[in-house]
Amino acid sequence: METALWHPFSDMAAVREGEFVLDRGEDVWVYDTDGNRYLDATASLWYVNVGHGRREIADAAAEQMRKLAGYSIFGDFANEPARAIANRIAGLAPLPDAKVFLTTGGGEAIDSAVKIARRYHDAQGEPGRVHVISRAQSYHGTNGIGTGIAGIEANRSGFGEILPSSSRVRYDSVDALREEILRVGPENVAAFLFEPVIGAGGVLPPPEGYLRGVIEVCHEYGVLAIADAVICGFGRLGTWFGVERWDAEPDLITFAKGVTSGYLPLGGVVAHGRVAEPFWERGGNALRHGATYSGHPAACAAGLVNIDLLERDGLVERGRTMEGVLAEALAPLAEHSLVAEVRAGIGLLGAVELDPELLRRLPSAVNDLQMLVRQRGVLLRPLGKALAVSPPLTIQTEQLREIGEAFAGGLDELA
Ligand code: PLP
Repeated sequence: METALWHPFSDMAAVREGEFVLDRGEDVWVYDTDGNRYLDATASLWYVNVGHGRREIADAAAEQMRKLAGYSIFGDFANEPARAIANRIAGLAPLPDAKVFLTTGGGEAIDSAVKIARRYHDAQGEPGRVHVISRAQSYHGTNGIGTGIAGIEANRSGFGEILPSSSRVRYDSVDALREEILRVGPENVAAFLFEPVIGAGGVLPPPEGYLRGVIEVCHEYGVLAIADAVICGFGRLGTWFGVERWDAEPDLITFAKGVTSGYLPLGGVVAHGRVAEPFWERGGNALRHGATYSGHPAACAAGLVNIDLLERDGLVERGRTMEGVLAEALAPLAEHSLVAEVRAGIGLLGAVELDPELLRRLPSAVNDLQMLVRQRGVLLRPLGKALAVSPPLTIQTEQLREIGEAFAGGLDELA
C-alpha cells in the first residue's frame, strides 16, 4: 500500500519504497507485521523504560477514559490524575518546594521552561533577560524554542532564525559558559539549558564537575539553569531526574518520555519553589502559557501506574546496577577496526561511534549497520556518526550480551 504517512526526520523518497511496520511488543521484544521478533535495544526513542505490553498501564488509561476522558486544568479546574502525578513528581524531584507544570511531551516542556524563565525574570524586574544559551550537540526537541536553540546544527538550519536571542557553547567547558554569559551581558541572559548526558547528540557524558560547575556559574550571574532530563529521567541514568548522579540542583527540570514509558504522551517542567514563587505567591501574575492537553487525565493515569511499576520493580535502581553490564557488553566493539569509540557506563545508555575513515569512504555506514544489526534481530538507532543503545530498564544480562554480539556481527559484515 502506498503510504501517506510523513515520517519525522526521514528521507521520504527512500521510506516510501518500504516502511518497517511494528505491530506489537512484550517486555524488551517487539514484533513486525510479518511476525518477526526483534530485541528493542533502544526502548523505541529512549522511552519504553518499563518495557512493552504492560497491561496495568493500558488498563489504568482505559479506566480513566471511561470515567472522565478529558478535562482541562486551566483556571481552578483540575482532575485527580493530574493532581496526583504533579504531587508524586514534586515529591521525587531533587528540588525544594517543587511545582510541576504538565505538557504533552518534551519539546513542549522545553518551550514551557524557557517561557517560565523569561517571565520569571520579567516578574523580578529584569525584562531584558531573554537570551538563552544551550550547548553544541544538544537536542531539546523540535518545537519553536527547541529548534531555535538546537545544538545539532542540522536541526536548526533551513528554518530561518527562530530564536534570535540565543547562542551555543562548547558542551564540555564550564569556562566557555562563563565567557558567553559575560560576552552577552549577564543582564541579558535568561537561561542555560543542558542535558545531564547529551542524548541525540551522541551520548556524551559530562566531564567531571561539569554539572555543578555550570549551575554555580549560572547562579553567580542570576541565570536560570534548566536541566533537560527528557531522556535522562525516570531511571535511564539510575535516578529519577539524572541530575542526582552529580548532586546537582538546577532551577528547572524538563521531563517526558520515561514518565509514562511512552504509553501515552506526557511531559512537563519541575520548578524550584523559588522560581515558582512569583507565579504562586503574587496575585495577578498568571503564566499565560499552556495547551489544551496540559494535565490530560488518561496520560496522567498512565504515568502514575508507570511510576508505580518503576518503584515496585526497582527499575530506577536497575538503570544503575545494569550500567556496568551494558558497558561490558559493548566494550569489545572498541577493538573493531570500524569503531572509533564506545561510550557507555552511566546508566542504561550507550553509543558506538564509527571510524571517521569508514564514514568518509561510506557515508551511509551508520544506516547500513543499523540494517545489518536489524537483520540479526536487534533494533538500534542511528545518531549521526554513532548508533545508540538505550534498552528498557527490564533488560537482562544475556540480552545485553546479545546486543553486543549482533553489533559485532553487523560490523564484521560491513567490513
Ligand atoms: N529534550 C531531549 C533531551 C530529548 O531527547 C527530546 C526528544 O528526544 C526532547 C527534548 C523532545 O521531546 P519530544 O520529542 O517529546 O518533543
